[in-house]
Amino acid sequence: DWLPLGFIVCVLLIGIIVWLTRRSFTMGLEIIEGLQLGEFVVHYQPMVALANGKVCCAEALLRWQRQNGSKISPDLFIGYAEENGQINLLTQFVLETVITDLAKLSHLDISVSVNLAGADLASPLFVENLAVLCRKYQIAPSRIELEITERSFVLGQSAINTISLLREAGHLILIDDFGTGYSSLSYLHHLPVDLLKIDKSFVQALGSGAATHHVASHIVQMAKDLGLEVVAEGIETSDQAEILKEMGVEWGQGWLYAKAMPFDDLCKFLQPSTTTPFKPLSSDPLPD
Ligand code: C2E
Ligand code: MG
Ligand code: MG
Ligand code: MG
Repeated sequence: DWLPLGFIVCVLLIGIIVWLTRRSFTMGLEIIEGLQLGEFVVHYQPMVALANGKVCCAEALLRWQRQNGSKISPDLFIGYAEENGQINLLTQFVLETVITDLAKLSHLDISVSVNLAGADLASPLFVENLAVLCRKYQIAPSRIELEITERSFVLGQSAINTISLLREAGHLILIDDFGTGYSSLSYLHHLPVDLLKIDKSFVQALGSGAATHHVASHIVQMAKDLGLEVVAEGIETSDQAEILKEMGVEWGQGWLYAKAMPFDDLCKFLQPSTTTPFKPLSSDPLPD
């Protein structure tokens, strides 16, 4: 009499599989619909100088809250959009939001960093499009940093060329989730980047065991040797912050300092005396 139970389990499994595939068939349309309905919002998570806690930058992190109340994690919809062609629309939305928000923060020494996907770098219009947006809202390109994962570099020379152009235009380039990808020392040496962001998996293992501690300090040392500054992401405890500071990490981000928050909350969080940029922000006249 195990037969009915086996039957029920089978039906359940098939049901789950059908539900999952149906979801992934419709998600692309739901993303486009969600953009039209205003379901996407950009939140901001500050990054600070570990030495004095001053905010240097805020990372733009996309949030999707559906009208029916459900929240969908970026890990889910960003991955989907990267594979199915909606990512360029989402990036465009984030850039427009960030630039109009930044225009309201012109009294502060602060920049915003935006996460890019490989497909953004593959689009030949991307560099010009971003330059047009900056000009339209009178935002110096040095106030927008771009976060790129190591995976994007694997796309090859054309992605690297795009990154060089973005850097020449005045944007700082960060390598995100560093340590989880494929970068080797020799490879990194040739990349047009300014800062390394150590992945939170290394940060969160700090203090718990000697091996990971060594990996983190090697990453930091490697960055120093290449003349790059380091940001540590996912700092949750003051112990982690102390260890990172001792290793020579300059910048940090994580729930210890602040979670990602809506723009209005960021405005309240930031005061002129609590900000200091990664690098001096450009006062160069904007190109016309
Ligand atoms: P990421 O760029 O590496 O962002 C860091 C993630 O870690 C964020 O998750 C952030 O909320 C979370 N985080 C920050 N501090 C802490 C901490 O102290 N502890 C823990 N446990 N987590 C922390 P989120 O917002 O869910 O985003 C996940 C990923 O989705 C991002 O990873 C990024 O790869 C992607 N993503 C988010 N927004 C965008 C976007 O606008 N464009 C693109 N292309 N990707 C995005
Ligand atoms: Mg990031
Ligand atoms: Mg990251
Ligand atoms: Mg990450």
